[in-house]
Amino acid sequence: LNTEWSTQATAARRDNYYAASQRKFVPFKDPIVFQRGSMQYLWDAEGNKYTDLLGMNVCISVGHSHPTVVAAAMEQAQQLTHCTTMFYHPTPAHLAEELAATMPKGHEWVVHFTNSGSEAIDLAMTMARSYTGNLDLLALRTAYHGPTASAQSLTGISGWRHPGMPGNVAFVAEPNQYRGIFGENAGAAPYLDEIDQTIRTATTGQIAGMFVESVQGYGGIIEMPKGYMSGAAERVRAAGGLYIADEVQSGFGRTGDHMWGFEADGVVPDIIVMAKGLGNGFPIGAVVAKKEIAAPMAEKFMFHTYGANPTSCAAGRAVLQVIREDKVMENAKTVGAALLARLHELKDKHAAIGDVRGRGLMLAIEMVKDRKTKEPDAETTAAVFEHCRSQRLILSKSGPFQSSLRMVPPMCLTLEDVDRVADGLDQAFSSL
Ligand code: PMP
Repeated sequence: LNTEWSTQATAARRDNYYAASQRKFVPFKDPIVFQRGSMQYLWDAEGNKYTDLLGMNVCISVGHSHPTVVAAAMEQAQQLTHCTTMFYHPTPAHLAEELAATMPKGHEWVVHFTNSGSEAIDLAMTMARSYTGNLDLLALRTAYHGPTASAQSLTGISGWRHPGMPGNVAFVAEPNQYRGIFGENAGAAPYLDEIDQTIRTATTGQIAGMFVESVQGYGGIIEMPKGYMSGAAERVRAAGGLYIADEVQSGFGRTGDHMWGFEADGVVPDIIVMAKGLGNGFPIGAVVAKKEIAAPMAEKFMFHTYGANPTSCAAGRAVLQVIREDKVMENAKTVGAALLARLHELKDKHAAIGDVRGRGLMLAIEMVKDRKTKEPDAETTAAVFEHCRSQRLILSKSGPFQSSLRMVPPMCLTLEDVDRVADGLDQAFSSL
């Protein structure tokens, strides 16, 4: 097949043949055609090299086209590309066992594989409702849980909400320690009270569960303050519901300290949703649940055609192996700490930066027009973002006001990359 690589030809084809719904989410002024990737780097069709701080939206956990992951998937694809769960195959069964082994001790964990994060979110919603017999769900206001209709119903950021979403979701305030409704560094307590109040006033009083990203990703890297996740789980369980951790962005060691973001607070979720980094680019999602919680779903059929696809599952097994053998989590911790330190230096230097936050390789800076009023500054954010792009650094504009730059690179980022990124940002702010 003949493939035309020019940006112009690709742009014309997209304009003519992609639906409007798939064309909108292109953040750069001028589009980029990427042709090749290796670890934390990408090359465009003209051969220019970029440092990827976005990891194709957090999918690339251990590195673009990581040789171990590609070899595992290729070998599986050549032998048998696909095998549905109607038949038995050892690769997904092994991956299920390996994922279960990463979960907190003292419980029996079971896995249901899907194709994507939002499908896993949908399934977790059904599972929570089936187990509890309740309908109402809680989610955080600046949450992002995915594009399917049900996952959208849990997504609080208004730019992602479309007509016709199902209901029965009440939103609670995100415990944002920079600009949350209870002010700076308010801790977890007022936000936990707000959960109680919301359950009492905006639900039937008995809920199916609450979804929490252990660190909010698209919301602009919002960490949960100490005691929030465990306190939320207590309150939700008191109202008959389950605590569901969305680890789609925060999992796989990205926070540097733990394999899963929820571990930072010692909470044991009832259901854990994951995707993206599990396949390092191969499509896969998973719901991991306590065995008894998944059990009631045995009453009805539930079948994802590509769920437990052996090719993606072979990639998933290789990802877990690379995370262990290449000490990926440890790298996220040290390199993330170095990047965070450089970002704090930038904040000292540039008044446009209002906040620096995150942990491991899940970091953000937020731009404000005035540090006192904290008025979000989407224009400066966009200008810095474009300037970085011209220096071949790929970042992401995030947050409900598009005023944060999110950094979620492949976790093989190095200290030399940190210098390039921080110097690039410094130049971008200086050029404003
Ligand atoms: N949850 C979170 C936290 C996400 O960031 C995303 C994707 N950005 C999803 C769920 C949905 O995953 P997917 O795009 O694979 O459906």
